[in-house]
Amino acid sequence: MNIKNIERVVSPPPHHFVGDGFRVHNFIPSIFSMERMSPFIMMDYNSKHIFPATENPRGVGVHPHRGFETVSIAYKGKIAHHDSAGNSGVIEEGDVQWMTAASGVLHKEYHEKEYSKKGGEFHMVQLWVNLPSSDKMSKPKYQSIVNHDISKYYLPNNIGRIEIIAGEHNGIKGSASTFTPVHLMNGYFNEGSSETFHFPSNFNTALLVLEGKVKINGNQIVDTDQFALFKNDGETFEVTAMEQSLFLILSGEPINEPIAAHGPFVMNTRQEIIQAFEDFNDGKFGELAD
Ligand code: MN
Repeated sequence: MNIKNIERVVSPPPHHFVGDGFRVHNFIPSIFSMERMSPFIMMDYNSKHIFPATENPRGVGVHPHRGFETVSIAYKGKIAHHDSAGNSGVIEEGDVQWMTAASGVLHKEYHEKEYSKKGGEFHMVQLWVNLPSSDKMSKPKYQSIVNHDISKYYLPNNIGRIEIIAGEHNGIKGSASTFTPVHLMNGYFNEGSSETFHFPSNFNTALLVLEGKVKINGNQIVDTDQFALFKNDGETFEVTAMEQSLFLILSGEPINEPIAAHGPFVMNTRQEIIQAFEDFNDGKFGELAD
């Protein structure tokens, strides 16, 4: 197998706020286009940030989505969500919420009440995973994946673990079901720990370092909050932790279809975007109180 080499390592672009609760750096599509990272069409990274205590939870109010999935990974802090189908819940530290918006949901995302009252570290990732045209109008659904239920691969001698959210590593299958082939996994490595990963060469692949510092293929350093994009040249790469590290790997088969994106809607054609706005204005996404 050939080495999958690094194409580019980037530092986080300036942050912006989503609502008043998510202080995010956007790697996709601001630096890497939706097409380049397909099926990952958006990645907001809330680097570690301390929010002060408040009685009024910060967040983002009622908004729609159609045509894709949102994947929220909470590392520090807790996120509460409510949607127009009556679903609600809390994403706790280490948990993942995989929401298939598909034909459409209205939802709101806020810091959880008790976390808000105390304030403290907040550290999370939200990814948007595109859906193929055949699934864009399927029924919305949730996968609430608590940390206990995430598949884990332990490195020999317990020098690290890989939490496989989706896809597969060393024969261990991830916990989430996906519409197209997607690998998504967190590595928690002690200093000096090393592991080799394999993904098909055509899969768009990247690694985000959330804590610590890693070395890729023995020569390329990726520091805290940096995002490394791999070339589509080979299948295998090695990650070595230069200090205690936490990193997220994403790899997926590109969905080679036209992308028409506007705000919270990601479809294949402009006509479908117009339809999404019409359906939203006609109340077809349901109702949800602020
Ligand atoms: Mn949302």
